[in-house]
Amino acid sequence: MSNFPHFEYKQDILHAEQVPLETIAQKFGTPCYVYSRAAISATYHEFQQAFADDDYLVCYAVKANSNLAILNLLAKLGCGFDIVSGGELQRALKAGGDPQKIVFSGVGKLADEMRMALAANILCFNVESIGELQLLNQIAAAMNMTAPVSLRVNPDVDARTHPYISTGLKENKFGIPIEEAEHIYLSTDIFSNIRFIGLDCHIGSQLTELDPFVQAGERLMSLLHRLQSHNLKINHLDLGGGLGIRYTNEALPSIQDYVTALRKTLGPMKLRLVIEPGRSLIGNAGLLLTRTAYIKHTPERHFAIVDAAMNDLMRPSLYKAYHQILPINKRSGGSCNYQIVGPVCETGDFLGHDRKLNLEAGDLLAVMSAGAYGMSMSSNYNSRPRAAEVMVDGQTVHLIRARETIDQMIAPEAILPS
Ligand SMILES: *Cc1c(COP(=O)(O)O)cnc(C)c1O
Repeated sequence: MSNFPHFEYKQDILHAEQVPLETIAQKFGTPCYVYSRAAISATYHEFQQAFADDDYLVCYAVKANSNLAILNLLAKLGCGFDIVSGGELQRALKAGGDPQKIVFSGVGKLADEMRMALAANILCFNVESIGELQLLNQIAAAMNMTAPVSLRVNPDVDARTHPYISTGLKENKFGIPIEEAEHIYLSTDIFSNIRFIGLDCHIGSQLTELDPFVQAGERLMSLLHRLQSHNLKINHLDLGGGLGIRYTNEALPSIQDYVTALRKTLGPMKLRLVIEPGRSLIGNAGLLLTRTAYIKHTPERHFAIVDAAMNDLMRPSLYKAYHQILPINKRSGGSCNYQIVGPVCETGDFLGHDRKLNLEAGDLLAVMSAGAYGMSMSSNYNSRPRAAEVMVDGQTVHLIRARETIDQMIAPEAILPS
């Protein structure tokens, strides 16, 4: 099957669902993020079907793409949210998210964020250190509440992915070493305003194999059995996110295979399984639409200078990530080996290297697989206003974030009085 079943050529013109991407560029300008509603819904349904009748909760990792329309679409499908900040909590609530389906992850939760989340009555705090547990206990006590907690344990498993997005090794900053977790779970007498309800881990992102998930799951299950032998009641096991997507032709487990492997790790235990997928839910449901400003031939290289840059899509610069780049209108004739680069003043500002394309100035291109960690990691570097975002639904295109204006970009700043 195509990597992008909702972004396909019809008569040599690339479409998002029923809409030619050229139409979107004309109406909304470029650079522009384009998402497919059908693609997001279809992927969520794949997760649902894989779990069948099990007790499960899918908590979409908001940091992958936090646009309100996307969160609202997922909330309406019944999805929960994995948040990592007070800002993401506000977004999830504003988008209609059910607080009892929200888990709060992250190594550096601040007091105000804890208060906000307690007041909202979220499902669970995934706590990553003793210091955090102590502060949460104090804050909950002051609010006369009990905080529901999972410890995020670090199972020391190699996710075999890019080092920047590997999080489950003991040298990483994430989680509580698994050997120390048991002792903390059994210290309920010191933490009078904490209720331990779950056990959590997240070992990394863009995993292309199931083995590390299974290893982590097994380590958590063995801890869980020890906790149960001490009569501690745990309601859910949260195995994080991290399932990869196909950016090019990687061999990848399907969502069904992934969920089946996790369920098998749990065995016959009557326990709710929570997962926190980000990339696998949204990554291939979006693309970045950009227009070629210039073609520049030098003795060494052919450059296509486009109007999107590293500030719009950081992944190629940050991780040397590969994104497929497709022409919107296929042109016949010979192709040339292009470096696809943006206008930002950095040699690291590229979207793709060595792409065989037949291009002219003015041509539109689609940078594929840009639904996750695209817009959410974007910045104003080089004082470039942020791109517009649209969601296609059949034949309709909805603007879900207006292109930022220069006035909006500089409005919060002030010069010194004279
Ligand atoms: C980033 C993150 C996720 C989502 O990871 P994906 O690779 O996008 O699925 C889930 N849980 C936690 C704690 C994270 O930090």
